[in-house]
Amino acid sequence: MKALLYESSQNLRFCEQPNSIADNDNTLIDVNAVGICGSDMHAYLGHDERRPPPLILGHEAAGMLPSGARVTVNPLVVCETCDYCRAGRSNLCLQRQIISMPPRAGAFAEQLAIPPQNIVPLPNSLSLQQGSLAEPLACGHHTAGLGVVHSRRSLAECQTAVLGGGAIGLASALSLTARGAKEVWIADNNPRRRKALEKTGNFHIVTPEALPTAMDVVIDAVGHEQTRRQASTITAPGGVVVHIGLASADGGFDMRRLTLQEIVLVGSYTYTMTEFKETVEWMGKGKLGALDWFETRPLSDGARAFADLLAGNVAAPKIVLIP
Ligand SMILES: [Zn+2]
Ligand SMILES: [Zn+2]
Repeated sequence: MKALLYESSQNLRFCEQPNSIADNDNTLIDVNAVGICGSDMHAYLGHDERRPPPLILGHEAAGMLPSGARVTVNPLVVCETCDYCRAGRSNLCLQRQIISMPPRAGAFAEQLAIPPQNIVPLPNSLSLQQGSLAEPLACGHHTAGLGVVHSRRSLAECQTAVLGGGAIGLASALSLTARGAKEVWIADNNPRRRKALEKTGNFHIVTPEALPTAMDVVIDAVGHEQTRRQASTITAPGGVVVHIGLASADGGFDMRRLTLQEIVLVGSYTYTMTEFKETVEWMGKGKLGALDWFETRPLSDGARAFADLLAGNVAAPKIVLIP
């Protein structure tokens, strides 16, 4: 099969690779659409020691089963037997794996082997390309859900802000809206991205400097020192900061203000299968907007897509590669 192989830092090659193999635990799907994630970019830059080259990256896939059924893929493979899995928090599974991280190959390829329990049928109202958005949307849905769980105020009374207008930030904002947040602000530095975000939903799109303070729920979908500093500053007393961005490991939080104002700080990682399926259901019903905020490129041109993303030359919050 053809695949986009990550060979070394900032080096991707579209080439022939051994076929993916179906076995007792894995079903084969033909990949029709696969999104580029910030974590793929992180690996491409050589910054993710969990993803050593040579490796096929990519975990946001939709495609077809041998039967012709249209499906999307939950890339998080869990054991279903540990305490976390049994308590309904499978995203914290002690043996969790994700495709695109050894021992599992990723989806920047013509075919993908994946456990059948990770396959979710796609509603007829969604294209396969839209289906590949299920993974980032599920991340945002889980993140917004943590904001709801940890907030003392009902979301209908909440001013909410999302730092970073990439796919995860937008997905979080869409879920906040669908869950009934009073107001949703999205801040992003990139003017082209702000313009692209204008049509995605009923949001206030602003530069980071223009964000108001006294936000009840703040989602940091960047995870830089500056965004953590800003989250510390703009969150209302007793409010919630949900942190999902992974740009840098530490620095930025004003722990003194978080302490004195009893601000709740919670990390967010992926989603449970229940949340993933709910996301696909909400996508199908149109509750998460028009789902038209991506651009497509051929998988064979994947190397250029990464270079363009790195250079900041992409306005759309998501590039979807087509094998
Ligand atoms: Zn992703
Ligand atoms: Zn488990």
